[in-house]
Amino acid sequence: MVKDRYYSKEKYEAPMETFGVGIVFIIVGVISLVLNTIHFDFIGLSYWGYWLFIPAFFIMIGGFTQINTNRKFQKAVRVALMDRDFQGNHKLEDIALEVGIKPKDVLRVLVDLRDKGFVKYKFNSNTGEIELGKGVEYKVSTDFIPPPKKIEAPLPAHDKNYCVYCGQQLSESAQFCENCGSKI
Ligand SMILES: [Zn+2]
Repeated sequence: MVKDRYYSKEKYEAPMETFGVGIVFIIVGVISLVLNTIHFDFIGLSYWGYWLFIPAFFIMIGGFTQINTNRKFQKAVRVALMDRDFQGNHKLEDIALEVGIKPKDVLRVLVDLRDKGFVKYKFNSNTGEIELGKGVEYKVSTDFIPPPKKIEAPLPAHDKNYCVYCGQQLSESAQFCENCGSKI
């Protein structure tokens, strides 16, 4: 295993939750200003609510920074795939080292690029290789019950034959899900 210090400290993640929090702060701030204008008070909101514009500002900046980081990751992975003419089998770790981001982030970038139609590939979870140009057959296991919401640490997938994130049927020795790239 390659040490983390070779990889970027930045994370690849969806900024939507960040924007959600920022927008809630902004709405409360606006309500406080309205209450202030009509001289009506509710739990003292008109006296403190507008202070939320300050954290809201930084939260929104954080969201835009994340979008920028994600674009950078996607571009770097696309360049690495272009160098390989979008074909052949390549070790996930080699691409990760070349791009400078963690293997699991490379897999998440690849899933997003595939959803956008930029790349066709299959992740071979037995060899740890990205097989470019191949399609993945998405077969949901009959045992799979979708998690109620996004989970950070899912239930262990031992003794189960499906990915706990997307339900893809897995081979017995699979280390990663070939559909969504999640570590099993
Ligand atoms: Zn999966």
